[in-house]
Amino acid sequence: MSPAGMIAVVGSINVDLSAQVARHPRPGETLHGRGGRMTPGGKGANQAVAAAKLGGSVQMIGAIGTDAQAEVGLSGLRAAGVGLDGVREVEGPTGLAIVTVAEDGENTIVVIGGANDAVDAAQVKASREVLEGAAIVVCQGEIPRGGIEALPAHVQGRFLHNPAPVMELDPAVLRASDPLVVNEHEAALVLAQLSPETDPTQQPEQIASALRDAGIASVVLTLGAQGSLVADADGSHRIPAAPVTAVDTTGAGDAFIGALAVGLAGGQSLPVAARFASQVGAFAATGHGAQPSYPGTDDELPQLDG
Ligand code: ADP
Repeated sequence: MSPAGMIAVVGSINVDLSAQVARHPRPGETLHGRGGRMTPGGKGANQAVAAAKLGGSVQMIGAIGTDAQAEVGLSGLRAAGVGLDGVREVEGPTGLAIVTVAEDGENTIVVIGGANDAVDAAQVKASREVLEGAAIVVCQGEIPRGGIEALPAHVQGRFLHNPAPVMELDPAVLRASDPLVVNEHEAALVLAQLSPETDPTQQPEQIASALRDAGIASVVLTLGAQGSLVADADGSHRIPAAPVTAVDTTGAGDAFIGALAVGLAGGQSLPVAARFASQVGAFAATGHGAQPSYPGTDDELPQLDG
């Protein structure tokens, strides 16, 4: 087998600040909480860390601020061996997610883009050598629209596009996704942009097929504990989930995407890579937090339910 290709992840680097509370405070109210730890996060960094821990050769393109939190944001990337030459420092704060988790499990999250808002078309152009040398370019929706829209011109491998959160994008950029990786909620929002006449409440097979009809070459629809659905030119395949006892699904979707990138960069077909990603997503659901719950190459992955 030829050596695996390089994976370039263009996206957010955040610090997550979590508080556990008995219940969420009402407007104007102050409550005592527990926790207060700062941990590395951001969809971009999570996906890059997941791929690198699984043995992928990964380069990160993103931005951190000039504050003390920047080192926390980079810590997981450094430990996993992700290349950081494409990460620049911009004046101001590092991206921050303020998470409150109540006893009933409901959470609220406020995300402050900070330095991530500087990952624009100019930075993407400046990173074109890395992008053009990548087998897989991965991006999400936590950087500015201009940065995402500048990407497809520099992708020579596959564009693994996870538009989360979904924003208004040039339809040509959505159609460049191969694969587009979305959950059902995101799929409905993308369909509303590309094919507003389509009923987004249909079965996953119909939704994936509507996205393909709208011009997207391949689609992976993630369905949480129900697994996922892959649709490409070879047809559509249900990928089972691995039966695990989930303790915290934070970042399981990002682990799935990092693993999918590793499988594709190693030359696997999309359904085979999605089976591997399903095992890795399930593994991540069995551990607390995002990056700390991701498996390494020595970890035994749960088997799929079929
Ligand atoms: P997102 O968090 O982006 O909505 P999902 O919750 O669909 O993503 O999770 C992504 C993938 O991770 C799923 O398709 C599945 O393969 C795996 N996964 C997530 N939650 C579980 C779970 N509770 N049990 C087994 N696998 C899971």
